[in-house]
Amino acid sequence: MTLCESFETGTAGAAPDANTWSVGGPNCFDGTGKAVIDNTQAHSGGRSVRIDPGTSYCGHAFIINQAVASMGPVVYARFYVRLAQVLGDPHVTLVSMHDAIASTSSSVQDLRMGGQSSILMWNRSKDDATLPSLSPTGIAASVKLPAATWTCIEFGLDSAMGTMQTWVNGNLVAGMALDTVQTPDIDASWLGSMPTWVPKVSDLKIGWESYGGSTNTVWIDDVALGTSRVGCSP
Ligand code: CA
Repeated sequence: MTLCESFETGTAGAAPDANTWSVGGPNCFDGTGKAVIDNTQAHSGGRSVRIDPGTSYCGHAFIINQAVASMGPVVYARFYVRLAQVLGDPHVTLVSMHDAIASTSSSVQDLRMGGQSSILMWNRSKDDATLPSLSPTGIAASVKLPAATWTCIEFGLDSAMGTMQTWVNGNLVAGMALDTVQTPDIDASWLGSMPTWVPKVSDLKIGWESYGGSTNTVWIDDVALGTSRVGCSP
């Protein structure tokens, strides 16, 4: 695997290993959001990373790894997340990845996985498109994340094929799948808005970012990257 991180070598209260992770956020970072090793919650072993976001957009906090920049067109990721509170209606982000297609030298854009309308969904910052569309049918095609429970999230990106897949606790999420055929309520708007866009990313950021003042506490554990599906462990 390209990356396999259980945070077990970290020190509670300190930032995760600086050889693997930086802490920050795209566009701005005011330092009010924190990302530290926590020994009170863990999916594996005795430690995880806890995100304590600030209340503003620039109070976002992510742990950031650059390994995907040197991977090929196929990137699979797996991580476990534990939310203090369920996802609400306002838009928030849990995973943000530098969008190598939509970004320019003067405009940073990200491919983001997070919540809106209480479900897990993808968002492309360039045009604010969502996957699925936030119609009743689109919303019903995704899932809600429970509070105070470790949830396994996996995704696969293929920038050569232009496809994305997403799994929650091992189950494919139909509404969070991108292919090259426009499916109403799923990827029709996403494809229609930017027909030549493909999921080519150059970093992996996991944490919390909020656009409507929503706050939460987020724990992250067992982060893995590979060129084939990693899968969930018990
Ligand atoms: Ca751990």
